[in-house]
Amino acid sequence: MSNILDCAIVGGGPAGLTAGLYTTRGGLENVTMFEKGMPGGQITQSSEIENYPGVTGEITGMDLMMPWPEQCQKFGLKHDMSEVKQIRKDGDIFTVIKSDDSLIHAHSVIVCTGSSPRRAGFAGEDEFFGKGVSTCATCDGFFYKGKEVAVIGGGDTALEEALYLAKICTKVYLVHRRDTFRAAPNTVKRVEENDKIELVLNSVPDEVYGDAMGVNGVKVKDKEGNIRDIEVPGVFVFVGNDVNNQTLIQEDGSFLCDVNDQGQVIVDLSMKTSVPGLFAAGDMRIEAPKQVVSAAGDGAVAGIAAISYVDELLN
Ligand code: FAD
Ligand code: NAP
Repeated sequence: MSNILDCAIVGGGPAGLTAGLYTTRGGLENVTMFEKGMPGGQITQSSEIENYPGVTGEITGMDLMMPWPEQCQKFGLKHDMSEVKQIRKDGDIFTVIKSDDSLIHAHSVIVCTGSSPRRAGFAGEDEFFGKGVSTCATCDGFFYKGKEVAVIGGGDTALEEALYLAKICTKVYLVHRRDTFRAAPNTVKRVEENDKIELVLNSVPDEVYGDAMGVNGVKVKDKEGNIRDIEVPGVFVFVGNDVNNQTLIQEDGSFLCDVNDQGQVIVDLSMKTSVPGLFAAGDMRIEAPKQVVSAAGDGAVAGIAAISYVDELLN
């Protein structure tokens, strides 16, 4: 088989781009990154990032990611602006199937397709996403220091993030659609005992409203249809998360490599999956901190591991 890539990188967010930098700069000569949209990943949706080490001052996610592709291309990374439909392995060779059904073959694959926070589906949620509606308290909580915020959801993430936000904000309205929580009992107890958290139960967001400056509040509706207007500049939505693992699903519905019950890819400390030559990095892996810096770190680790794998395979 001719023209086999040394490494195919699927996804061009912080993990994929860093994997591209490390594989090419580390000596792999034939590496292509497949990205269905603009490179940069989900952080490009963020109006401000202030926790990427060494980057001070006001910077948008787009600004942060802008130079990354150019840096990779300097070392030889090729960029294919395509969606990948499926990754397969036959013998030692991987096949990457693009959405136009064309096939690419590779000795190794680093999959970095990230994850997508679920949207709750209320009016204004999409319009104000990144402008007051957020799905990341670690990222955006600090913008509401000394202010009030609302949190939507009743699982572990919502309650843990509500506790985190209560340390920064003056008050957290925890809006949940039932009167019992899915979260661990101890977390529920800590939330119930926290004076800064007000529980708004049996209620769902009806509408987030605001203006050109961002969110001004969220209207929530209870089971009787009563509307309550909660005036807050920040609304955090934690209604679950979907791992973008579709490319790993095989014809028979099984996954190419081991995943846990939430669909997150199981990796070791070298980002190796259960399939030799297949690596996973960033938000899609187990126990991902879901941060740009850790996704980039994963990409570097996976890139280094892929170089060793290809060297051993071919020499
Ligand atoms: P992603 O960034 O999700 O990148 C995955 C890439 O894969 C995407 O570009 C996608 O288009 C591509 N892709 C997916 N499927 C396919 C396919 N089938 N074929 C081809 N390409 C595909 N983190 C911080 O550290 N600090 C912050 O302040 C911060 N703020 C955030 C604010 C917002 C609004 C959001 C949404 C996230 C924020 N995060 C922040 C989290 C951070 O963006 C993620 O942790 C990080 O981007 C994960 O990187 P990744 O490379 O694993 O995945
Ligand atoms: P989750 O457990 O699926 O909880 C999602 C929450 O959002 C539920 O309370 C759900 O309500 C609510 N919800 C869903 N769709 C909604 C909508 N459209 N509008 C309003 N509310 C909606 O998600 P998660 O909290 O992200 O947790 C995911 C998994 O990770 C879980 O297994 C969790 O245990 C685990 N996790 C564990 C830890 C930990 O162990 N420390 C921390 C975080 C996450 P209902 O309850 O009514 O369905």
